[in-house]
Parts: sequence; C-alpha cells; structure tokens
Amino acid sequence: MPRWSHSRLFKLFHCGEAFRRQYLENERAPGTLPMHRGSAVAEAVRQQHLRQHAVREHLGPGNYSQAELNDALPDVQEVEDIAAQAFDERAREGITYTSDEESEGSTQARGRSKDDAIAMAGMYRDEVAVQVDPVGVERKTVFRPRGLTDAKGEPLEIVTVRDVVADTPFGRVVRDTKTASKSPAAGTADASGQLSVYALAEFAETGQLPHRLTLDYLVVTPTGLGKVVVQETTRDGTQLRAVVERIRAAQAALDAGVFLPANPGGLCSERWCAFWRTCKYVGGRDDD
Ligand code: SF4
Repeated sequence: MPRWSHSRLFKLFHCGEAFRRQYLENERAPGTLPMHRGSAVAEAVRQQHLRQHAVREHLGPGNYSQAELNDALPDVQEVEDIAAQAFDERAREGITYTSDEESEGSTQARGRSKDDAIAMAGMYRDEVAVQVDPVGVERKTVFRPRGLTDAKGEPLEIVTVRDVVADTPFGRVVRDTKTASKSPAAGTADASGQLSVYALAEFAETGQLPHRLTLDYLVVTPTGLGKVVVQETTRDGTQLRAVVERIRAAQAALDAGVFLPANPGGLCSERWCAFWRTCKYVGGRDDD
C-alpha cells in the first residue's frame, strides 16, 4: 500500500528532485549544521514533554496542575546537556558544510551551531514547555483519507508524527518546534503545509479540528540574540480538502515519475539542502 509521511509529502511539495534523490535513490547526504541543530533541539523538546506527560499519566486527567507538570521538567542545565549530547551524536554521523562555513572554519561553525542548539533548548524550556500540558508527545497517527488512491486504485496511507499535542481548556493544540537564525515571516504558520497535514491527522484521530496549531520558533541571531516567536493558526474544512488534493497531486506526480526541482532560495539553498553541492539544477555536479 502506498504510504506517505508528512516528511515525504513536505519534501515532494518543496522539491521533487530532493524527494527523488532521498526516497527513490536512497541517497543519504550528511545533514547540514542547521539540520543537526534542529534535530538536537527536537530531542531536548521531546525529553521535556515526556517528563510532563509521565506526570499527567500518573496523576490522571484533571488531577494535576501546570505547576506539577513543570516540576517534572529537567532543569535548564540538564536540558542544555541533552541538546549538546544530541548535537554531538548527529554530528558524528557527518556534516555537510556550506562554503561560508568552510571559509569560517568548520570547527568554529560547528561549535557555534552547537551553542545555538543549547541556547534554543533552554529557551524552549523556560518560555514554551512551562505552558504546555502534553496529551501526546511524538504523537503518531496512521490514516487513509477517503477516496485517495494511487493510479492502480490502491488506497493511500498517511503517517504523521506530531512533535507535541497539548491539552487546553479550549481544545487540542498541535505544536511544532522550529529553529532559525531570524524571525519567521508573518503568516508562516498560516501557509504551512506541514501544519495542514497535522490538522488532517488530528481530524482523522479525534473527528475534530484542532483548536489551534502553532509554530514555536526558537531564534538565535548571528549576533547571539535569542528569542522565541510563537505563531498560531487554525485550519478549516476547506483547507483540509485542499491538503487532500495536494496529497492526490503528490501521488500523481510519483505515479508519473515527474519530479520538479524547487526554485533556488529559502530551503533550496546550500544552508538547508544537503544535495545542493551535487544538484545539477543549481549548477552543482550530479556525479560527485
Ligand atoms: S538544491 Fe534545490 S533543486 Fe536541488 S535538490 Fe536541493 S532543493 Fe532541490
């Protein structure tokens, strides 16, 4: 049965060529420093919410306060240690450096990225985690949107893993953490295809749209200034139908073997695409 994860969908929505190389050719380029930074912070975020979740499960619904959940959080030093260790583990698997980072010196660039990951993990603990009552951590949902098939009529299966699903008095909130060196543009959460797929998963799991979806941006600028930027958004039925149509188009592209490259800029950059140096669509060599 054809199976789509949100990361596969996101990759294909963003760049067919990167999708082809990663998922069809099984090419594994080492991650860039921003990727390792994001992955290390994600691990620190996960550990924080797992501790809160354990208290919630132990005490039972309605029998705990946010303060009790927060007492279970690792302290900032431990959070930073988790992020540092996770960064080193990812880095040991390999790093694709940009030409700027090579000019700066790979050791220095790597150290700066690790420092940023440590700072971001601590910021998340103090400013975001303390507000969250996690009903699910790395919440996995597998579902089959009605009427969605491949060219042979096989139903499509969608797999999503949401970072955190939080309980609030108004309903469930799906949170996703991002790391960046500058604040996101206004409307980034509103336009996020990833959040749309998460809303679809919530609907499949609960029969209800999430109350809110958020992108929690942990920003450390090149001058070392740190801040948290939270963007909130919602999704409605029309937007869910649109994302189903996008998944249908993604499968049609896969069935037809059509893999369009992304326009250069943003994620199609040396900083964010590990295939950049060997991508023929941006002037790299495809035979490295
Ligand atoms: S460099 Fe750009 S076009 Fe090439 S694989 Fe990466 S994102 Fe796609």
